[in-house]
Amino acid sequence: MKNCTFCKIITGDLPSSKIYEDKELLAFLDIQPVNKGHVLVIPKQHKELMTELDDKILGSMIALSKKINQAMRKSDIKLEGINLFLADGEAAGQEVFHAHLHVIPRFKNDGFGFTFPEGYTNKPSRDELDLISQKIQLHLK
Ligand SMILES: [Zn+2]
Repeated sequence: MKNCTFCKIITGDLPSSKIYEDKELLAFLDIQPVNKGHVLVIPKQHKELMTELDDKILGSMIALSKKINQAMRKSDIKLEGINLFLADGEAAGQEVFHAHLHVIPRFKNDGFGFTFPEGYTNKPSRDELDLISQKIQLHLK
């Protein structure tokens, strides 16, 4: 896609520090890392959302993330844990609209984390949980 930063990285029109590349996937370092070693795993095919990705490609992205996770743990990159993060849509924090999976090295007090909405500690009732569960199940095929 013409104006997509990640498509330009795939074609080489924009530079990147590549970690891994095959016919379907590319993994490279995020230029604005949360922590050193923050990797992005992307499909070579331009798709905005995770839901548009072929299951096989998505599975390959997860499998590659596992390999990168293992490699990071063997390296001397500072980490005590690793987050996988996929922002699916602008409201979820997606900034580049080409699906990507973050692999983020984490350590205690690194300053990164989620913020929770007010009322988060008030747990919903079982009835409410069951109702929401049914709403999702209805469309899970
Ligand atoms: Zn793209």
